[in-house]
Amino acid sequence: MSETILSDLAKALGDQSIKVIDLTHTLDPDFPVIILPPEFNQCARFRMEEISAYDHRGPAWKWHNITLSEHTGTHFDAPAHWISGRDLPNNSVDTINPANFVGPVMVIDCSEGSATNEDFELTPELILAWEEEHGEIPKDSWVLMRTDWSKKTGADYLNMRDDGPHSPGPTPDAIRFLIHERNIRGFGTETVGTDAGQGSHYTPPYPAHFYLHGAGKFGLQCLANLDLLPPRGAILLAAPLKIKDGTGSPLRVMALVQGNDI
Ligand code: MN
Repeated sequence: MSETILSDLAKALGDQSIKVIDLTHTLDPDFPVIILPPEFNQCARFRMEEISAYDHRGPAWKWHNITLSEHTGTHFDAPAHWISGRDLPNNSVDTINPANFVGPVMVIDCSEGSATNEDFELTPELILAWEEEHGEIPKDSWVLMRTDWSKKTGADYLNMRDDGPHSPGPTPDAIRFLIHERNIRGFGTETVGTDAGQGSHYTPPYPAHFYLHGAGKFGLQCLANLDLLPPRGAILLAAPLKIKDGTGSPLRVMALVQGNDI
């Protein structure tokens, strides 16, 4: 490989002809976490406690202890998160090959349908329609479902009703297509999970989790700013914390985008 590729990249980052887009929500105690049916254990919201703040507890420094679950805020799902990926090799965040943390990203815009249908479904037909316009999804790509759901705040984000949460997501067929026909690296959403709010009613329940992790693929959720990405051509940077046997991790997700794409 020519060493000019990296020097060209450095130059493009320097003159901002390649921009860095932040796809991450701020970790905040008010940011919602997924709520499971009451018979199951729940994951924790983000909490921050002051250790000292330039005071008698530490006169020249300020710092915090933080607590949160592996699946709080903008976060990465490893194959070990789901029973279907339980026995795969290198299935936890500390053992995944780091080459997977940098790579191409495709963005399928479902924002229009999701604006009028809170249970909007990404289907194989919609993926094929996207490919008609933008070309086939390359092997080993991230595929992100843009819904603009990240612009919702408070109770609207989880959108809980008597029958559980309502938010857009992929059908089982869409996920199977992305895995078996396109061999993607992972799938990401702007909602609290990679599955639809009503994903427990599919067969199998939570098909994105079940199929992705069973195939050794990854998930990203609670993403933001997907409206700032081109349909294809961007590079995603998504490196989870190196937690021993971790099933996922909060992380800073960023995209490199060519200036003329945005
Ligand atoms: Mn998760």
